[in-house]
Amino acid sequence: MQVVETIGEMRHVVAEHRGRGKSVALVPTMGALHEGHLTLVDEARRVADIVVMSIFVNPLQFAPSEDFDRYPRTMEEDSASAAARGVDFLFTPVREEIYPEQAPVVLVHPGSVGKEWEGAVRPHHFEGVLTVVAKLFNIVMPDVAVFGQKDLQQVAVVKRMVRDLNFPVGILMAPIVRESSGLAMSSRNRYLSAKDRELGLILSRALFAMRDAFAKGERRASALEAIGWRMLERVVGLTPRYLAAVNADTFQRVNNVRHGDAAVGAIRVGETRLIDNIIF
Ligand code: AMP
Repeated sequence: MQVVETIGEMRHVVAEHRGRGKSVALVPTMGALHEGHLTLVDEARRVADIVVMSIFVNPLQFAPSEDFDRYPRTMEEDSASAAARGVDFLFTPVREEIYPEQAPVVLVHPGSVGKEWEGAVRPHHFEGVLTVVAKLFNIVMPDVAVFGQKDLQQVAVVKRMVRDLNFPVGILMAPIVRESSGLAMSSRNRYLSAKDRELGLILSRALFAMRDAFAKGERRASALEAIGWRMLERVVGLTPRYLAAVNADTFQRVNNVRHGDAAVGAIRVGETRLIDNIIF
């Protein structure tokens, strides 16, 4: 595995491989790698000859009140796990490489797909995500990019950006990797105490209960949401933020749930926000 720190070198190595007819997959991450990130690498390996992983904690997608400064940065371990999993190029630009000025003047606005749920709780989050993803696409010029279902609304806004702005990139989504308890793996899980972890579990349980009720025939979104809400509300020590049945492409709430729709949820446990989802 080769570590690449500059845009110039990244473009150069990719151009070289493309010239030899190789296809390229990109796995964008913010590091603090866990098995969830590494399965994206497996998926990338499956579909392309060359796998590029980027590690960049993107300041633009954090609000001033959020955890940008204390976000876990574990570059040495990340580099070892990426290499062991078969990443060919690890792109690790410093902030000034991606944002030579304080902030870009032109940003990618997510529109209606990014308005509700995570978009409502974190007002400029998806604008920051899409802007950096657009930059990474223009730097790496991958044939495909692999994202995790863990951030389902992110997948929806990225797919929509690709469609609306004609990026020549295929978007693949890999399933959520969970701990044996059911908790969705996340770089932020390392903020959780043992007790908070226990509390956080209720989010996946609520979503699974909604999926079970759907499997038994319930189709009314309000009834499914009520099943999940009741479970979240019973637990002292966490704050539910949202729990809703949505269309997985538009992220508009649905009234009647169909196969392929999603239930998305977010809670706060102590200072930590957890998100999760299931696809019906
Ligand atoms: P992050 O480093 O949190 O920005 O995540 C980078 C990529 O890894 C995103 O596409 C996430 O959706 C994906 N990802 C994070 N956690 C998981 C997980 N538990 N299962 C699958 N994908 C994940």
